[in-house]
Amino acid sequence: MKDYKINTKCVQGGYTPGNGEPRQIPIVQSTTFKYDTSEDMGKLFDLEAEGYFYTRLQNPTNDFVAAKIAELEGGTAAMLTSSGQAANFFALFNICETGSHIVASSTIYGGTFNLISVTMAKMGIDVTFISPDCSEEELNAAFQENTRAVFGETIANPALTVLDIEKFAKAAHSHGVPLIIDNTFPTPVNCRPIEWGADIVTHSTTKYMDGHGAAVGGAIVDSGKFDWMKYPDKFPGLCTPDESYHGVIYAERFGKEGAFITKCTTQLMRDLGCIQSPQHAFYLNLGLESLHVRMPRHVENGQAVAEFLEKHPQVSYVNYSGLPSNKYYDLAKKYLPNGGCGVVSFELKGGRAAAETFMKNLKLAAIETHVADARTCCLNPATSTHRQMTDQQLQEAGVPAGLIRISCGLEDKEDLIADLQQALEAIDC
Ligand SMILES: *Cc1c(COP(=O)(O)O)cnc(C)c1O
Repeated sequence: MKDYKINTKCVQGGYTPGNGEPRQIPIVQSTTFKYDTSEDMGKLFDLEAEGYFYTRLQNPTNDFVAAKIAELEGGTAAMLTSSGQAANFFALFNICETGSHIVASSTIYGGTFNLISVTMAKMGIDVTFISPDCSEEELNAAFQENTRAVFGETIANPALTVLDIEKFAKAAHSHGVPLIIDNTFPTPVNCRPIEWGADIVTHSTTKYMDGHGAAVGGAIVDSGKFDWMKYPDKFPGLCTPDESYHGVIYAERFGKEGAFITKCTTQLMRDLGCIQSPQHAFYLNLGLESLHVRMPRHVENGQAVAEFLEKHPQVSYVNYSGLPSNKYYDLAKKYLPNGGCGVVSFELKGGRAAAETFMKNLKLAAIETHVADARTCCLNPATSTHRQMTDQQLQEAGVPAGLIRISCGLEDKEDLIADLQQALEAIDC
């Protein structure tokens, strides 16, 4: 599939059936796999042969879908996880341990922020958060001798900042560590971070990749470009023998192309679980088959809604990188030439009261904590996810009480705009 265009890879990547085999990816609904001799199975445990033995580590359905995602991102290997949270945790924990340090963009998704700053801190892993808009000097100053990874999101959820991936990749590489990019919002249809220097790419497949609000999941893709063996002291897990697999040295045996994902599967999946169910992988693949058709429509609707809102007298500002007024417009033109995603945020001049009236009057857009779904959904953080905070605290956190996040789905844009229009009119009454 390597030479095909991304649209073709969305439809047919990852799985090529042989003569008389199922056209659709088979769901291998089996926890375990049968072998004729103990010797055959022993080879799997020694990592000397490829194959399946237990679905906590690997399952053929998952591997077909992961292979498709690897092709879409332009990587050499990939794996599916049970959620986006698990993907980001595994991607980081595969190369970090007690005493390690991470440099991360400060605007990343709240769940990942919490994962790194609270849960991973309990494991003795430190973090320095840095503004995605920082200068190169500020970025370089965030590194320490024990830094093991740099982490950021192409388009941050929900801040919608656009990351200068090349700037972050350059800093990471000059300090001998990989750049990990969460590419959930644009998907590989709109941006392929590996082409800009990212080493590892992660996804919450729960969002646009599934796209139908059907299955929680995650993915990790390796670019195959980072040379772990160049920094054996920094990455002992990849560059020194793993006693739990008879002394295999991952970076030696599996090379740059396979070491990261192999270790992540054989150690982290084995010990922590977090595998995606084959059934969910099947749903995910149905979503991937139309990803290249859906993303342009999400962008078209997002752009139309953002332009409508920007002109509306009840709205104080709109945050969408496709608007020329947006701070990230130029970066978006470079990294997201076909647009970013369908998520737009905006602030109502009338604050909390206006937001409550507006939300309650929406007919098409549903109130949900979800984003990136075929159906349009909306959230007012002040009255939901952030309701414990005062108006003053909300303002300081950059989520003012009148802020609304709308994830534009695949409906007709005129219907969406009409829905917003009538809900905005209700504020006056
Ligand atoms: C939703 C999301 C996650 C977490 O993914 P889950 O599938 O909900 O665990 C991580 N990163 C980003 C950018 C997200 O939007």
